[in-house]
Amino acid sequence: MELGYANRVAVVTGGSSGIGLATARLLLAEGARVAICGRDQARLDAARKELGSDRLLALRCDVLDATEVAGFAHAVAEWGSGALDLLVNNAGQGRVSTFADTTDQDWKDELDLKFFSQVLPIRAFKPMLDKSDAAAIVGVNSLLAYQPERHMVCTSAARAGVQSLLKSLATEFAPRIRVNSILLGLVDSGQWQRRFEARADKAETRDAWFGRLAQDKGIPLGRLGQPEEPARAIVFLGSPAASYITGASLEISGGVSRHI
Ligand code: NDP
Repeated sequence: MELGYANRVAVVTGGSSGIGLATARLLLAEGARVAICGRDQARLDAARKELGSDRLLALRCDVLDATEVAGFAHAVAEWGSGALDLLVNNAGQGRVSTFADTTDQDWKDELDLKFFSQVLPIRAFKPMLDKSDAAAIVGVNSLLAYQPERHMVCTSAARAGVQSLLKSLATEFAPRIRVNSILLGLVDSGQWQRRFEARADKAETRDAWFGRLAQDKGIPLGRLGQPEEPARAIVFLGSPAASYITGASLEISGGVSRHI
């Protein structure tokens, strides 16, 4: 199947690690020009080296800083054709805390991260998306939106709100811009690597730790996902090949959801 990315321009926020990096790699392989951002310059430099493409732009930008996001959009417009075909809102991370140990400030920080990592890039890139004849937004969201976990209370609540936001935008931006989301289960990326490194029993191997995690979570496919697995779904949903799909969510979780 031809996805239709040749000569198209894509932006992946949080493209310096994990799912975002895998998405950028696949988009480049499909012939797109790809701009990524992240906050840490060293991580961006490593990603630039790893991806090694002259169709890549890697810039430092915190997606929660409106001025930086506007500057990133301006740089992408100058570097590309002025139009944007795909915006992947991927930057972020989850917060592990129950209601009892989540402060008001934690709530504000988490709602800020989840909502404004969508709102600010969408606002900044919307004029460029309007110039594309096949514009799409893919929001990277979590299964927590539908299946909240008490140990991630504010992340779960925020994820549900983001699902609502993206569904609204699929209507408001139609028919010019398609808006879809993916719902992640557990994917072996930067944030899980950091949790593995912080494990209590330092003698436990990576395979044993991740294997136990998959078992504890009851993942039917018996393992965490690899970053390339959600990346393939993002690349499809964002492509001209998905031209009649908008307002949809695709679950990438190894089958861990329990709702119908
Ligand atoms: P990684 O930690 O590997 O990657 C996160 C990326 O986002 C990094 O490039 C990071 O770079 C960037 N980032 C984080 N905050 C910001 C910010 N404020 N501005 C710009 N860039 C930022 O994690 P994943 O690949 O797992 O995460 C990708 C997305 O998937 C996240 O939104 C995460 O919440 C979501 N998700 C992941 C799950 C999983 O199991 N892996 C489960 C559910 C959701 P830097 O730190 O340098 O800014």
